[in-house]
Amino acid sequence: MIKFIEKLLSIIYIQPCYFCKSTKDDNIICKKCYNKIHFMPPAVYKEYSGCKVYACCLYDDIIKHLIRDLKYHNKKKLSVLFAKLMNDYIKDINLKQEYLIIPVPISKERRKERKYNHMELVSDELSKLTGFKNNKNLLIRIKDTEKQYKLHRTERIKNIKGAFDVNNTEISKETPILIIDDITSTGITLEENIKTLKKSGFKEIIAITLATPDIWN
Ligand SMILES: [Zn+2]
Repeated sequence: MIKFIEKLLSIIYIQPCYFCKSTKDDNIICKKCYNKIHFMPPAVYKEYSGCKVYACCLYDDIIKHLIRDLKYHNKKKLSVLFAKLMNDYIKDINLKQEYLIIPVPISKERRKERKYNHMELVSDELSKLTGFKNNKNLLIRIKDTEKQYKLHRTERIKNIKGAFDVNNTEISKETPILIIDDITSTGITLEENIKTLKKSGFKEIIAITLATPDIWN
């Protein structure tokens, strides 16, 4: 009887694939749609301030749509999908040790607007999948800045300088840090995050972003 009820419930609550609306056989999107995601090669994508930065996939229409929905349209469940995507990529790059996952912080003003920081949600899910701990308070945003996309490169660098700080001094500076972000285009924000952590004494820092608009070269 219990088995029967479970089966019935699973039929009632089956959600169609986020994209093609077919019955999904995986988290959020079906295998067919998941396989359409353009993963980046499992290699260092860029280096900022001597730290390795990786990008999981190409910022194409699927990923663009998904990031926008998670970030602005309250589709919080997509954090599960992004964590899976990041975890699949992490398995490929073969990290040699455990890292403390740190989501790129947003300002109080931005949090007021959006109600939540989407990368914090991803960090919670990624922590479950990898078994790595995450910390949402270590790196904080102390300055609200003008939206970066409105500015030119030199203005962006000036705008973001000093926008972050390290909050918790109880965490050992020997802890390897893994910063996660959604997209990297100019990398200016990510680099400022890395610089802030380095300045406070952290030595081993890497970063992984969900997507990059650049074509691999
Ligand atoms: Zn699908």
